[in-house]
Amino acid sequence: MGKLSVIVSVYNEEAVLEKFYSAFQTVKTGFQWPYELLFVNDGSTDRSLPILTALAEKDPCVKVVSFSRNFGHEAAMIAGIDHATGDRLICMDADLQHPLECIFPIMEKFDEGYEVINMVRVANKSAGFIKNITSKAFYKVVNLLSDQASFEENASDFFAVSKRVADVLRGSYREKVRFLRGYVQSVGFARTALEYTAAERAGGASHYSLRKLMRFSVSTIVCFSDLPLKLGVYTGFVCALLGLITLVYTMFTYHDAPSGYATIVTLICFLFAAMFIIIGIIGEYLAVLFAELKDRPIYIVDKKINMESKADA
Ligand code: UDP
Ligand code: MG
Repeated sequence: MGKLSVIVSVYNEEAVLEKFYSAFQTVKTGFQWPYELLFVNDGSTDRSLPILTALAEKDPCVKVVSFSRNFGHEAAMIAGIDHATGDRLICMDADLQHPLECIFPIMEKFDEGYEVINMVRVANKSAGFIKNITSKAFYKVVNLLSDQASFEENASDFFAVSKRVADVLRGSYREKVRFLRGYVQSVGFARTALEYTAAERAGGASHYSLRKLMRFSVSTIVCFSDLPLKLGVYTGFVCALLGLITLVYTMFTYHDAPSGYATIVTLICFLFAAMFIIIGIIGEYLAVLFAELKDRPIYIVDKKINMESKADA
């Protein structure tokens, strides 16, 4: 039986790490396969790193990759995938919102031959009504706009991939502005989904603000669709058509001439609105190009604990 790598991203999770570890100890008694528990410390400023170091000292199955600063959840998951040595990889959160018991059904799916397993959230108790609705709307929009992938609605940062898929993610998909869940769903291979109920956070507070989520949504759409970029052309056509209608209208009503004021004002407002929107969209794409051009590292590793030196690359 292949080795399992459980990848956990950690950012200021001192309140939950020990709970996570002891919950894992309980679940692991049912494992019939070798495993590693790989924590990626995403530049925590609290006691997370010392806690992880202590866990790693007494348990050789606990491995730690620690960043030089906070690089974000996505970077942490990518680093986890890069450093994992297992044949089956599961990415999950440290706050116990992703139930550890799900590891068993995931392993069954792997046994059935699936290589990408998306965990689909059925209900998120701690996320508010608004967060649930917006996340649903978000996936609908992305699916509508993108011809490169079809996304599972309510897909979360909880997923599992085989070593083959992990190798694809390690080699390609090194974009700087990225949406890992999206890549996981667009690499192909045998793919399936399992449902899970997100639990309450075991402690501490969520790191995602509404503003961060908005930012995240825009960059995802920009990463996976170039339709907004072409919006200018469509808007141009619509404006031309409106212009034509106005022209015809003016021709037929020329006898009561100075009545055009309202038309002009409306047209100017409308055209400026369209122009600014399109300039804004171009700005979004430029921002992505800029980020890719700079080619900065996705993450910088400061320290590794319990890791073989071969992963030092
Ligand atoms: N996280 C991270 N880096 C960050 C923010 C969050 O590694 O910059 C981790 C965090 O420790 C947790 C997971 O990502 O394990 C999900 O974060 P959180 O629970 O705050 O998000 P939510 O579940 O509320 O969407
Ligand atoms: Mg959470």
